[in-house]
Amino acid sequence: MRRPYSPFNNKRFIGNTNTNEVHDLDSETSNCKINEIKHEHVKTFSPDTHAEAENQDFDNCAWCIGNSKY
Ligand SMILES: [Zn+2]
Repeated sequence: MRRPYSPFNNKRFIGNTNTNEVHDLDSETSNCKINEIKHEHVKTFSPDTHAEAENQDFDNCAWCIGNSKY
């Protein structure tokens, strides 16, 4: 579920700079624990794409994206 407020700003892909994982909020599961990510650890992407998150070396969340590398 996308969140319209800061720091999520309605973005689809949200990185956690603490775990270096990226989440797809359109496929979010309760296991993602998005609401437990500290706001200072929330990273959004421009463009808001999975490819951009990969370019920045974020690993996939195993729950909402899959194919986690680590
Ligand atoms: Zn996730």
